[in-house]
Amino acid sequence: MRQNLLILGGTSEASSLAHLISKTEFNATISYAGRVERIRQQPIQKRIGGFGGVDGLTSYIISNGITHLVDATHPFAEQISQNAILASQNTNIPFAALTRPQWQKQKTDNWYTVPDIKTAAAALDCNPKRVMLAIGRMHLAHFYKNPQHFYLLRLVDRPLEPPAFTNQVIEVSRGPFTTNQDKLLLSKYKIDLMVAKNSGGNAAYAKIEAARQLKIKVIMIERPVISDRLTFYNPEEVVQWISLSG
Ligand code: NAP
Repeated sequence: MRQNLLILGGTSEASSLAHLISKTEFNATISYAGRVERIRQQPIQKRIGGFGGVDGLTSYIISNGITHLVDATHPFAEQISQNAILASQNTNIPFAALTRPQWQKQKTDNWYTVPDIKTAAAALDCNPKRVMLAIGRMHLAHFYKNPQHFYLLRLVDRPLEPPAFTNQVIEVSRGPFTTNQDKLLLSKYKIDLMVAKNSGGNAAYAKIEAARQLKIKVIMIERPVISDRLTFYNPEEVVQWISLSG
């Protein structure tokens, strides 16, 4: 039977895999949650929107004859990753994750590591600061209880309803950015504290390097723990795995 892969996407790793797969004989579909307005062009077919939980994903796999499932979602996309594990168990198809190693603290980094977003927000119960909240748009409300700060938000799309911070600037732009671009941004808004997720990978690392060079403290949010699963760190390995587990 011809391999028919479902890639859970929304990351640069998923896009790289889609490009690599398009050069093979395998059939593949990339799936997006549909959170951003402009979804990247892909050389394979795509579908957009949630599946409807574990049951929905399980039904999708069965009704579309999916033979392999790859979770290439963001390391902080915990729900879909747990759903993928369960749906692969329900359908008994080969399953793997494609992800990126997390960032490691360097000697000159000034990180305060916290286990989750709630703890990061609690750490901002302090004197007014100029904060870059580099956490996307989904969990900003946790920080509303600390309105004393200036907040710089960088978002992929302009939100329909602006976040409710009293003192905020929203920069709408899509990465990847260079370290110099991020140094300019941090300097422009006189940022003295950054809140970031330990996403790992190169695409979002420039802000971390910029913070290091400008000696800005970073509240670094650790990744959620996802159950054990077969994990790859580059798309070539995923293609080899599909070939072997065909
Ligand atoms: P999440 O909390 O793990 O997922 C929430 C729900 O969104 C899932 O239960 C699923 O709905 C749907 N969903 C998520 N990813 C999907 C996908 N690739 N295809 C179809 N449905 C998907 O996810 P999230 O943190 O909101 O992230 C959403 C998407 O944005 C992910 O694809 C992720 O790769 C990308 N992203 C996330 C972050 C981040 O920091 N969280 C950063 C960059 C990109 P159903 O239960 O209805 O199937």
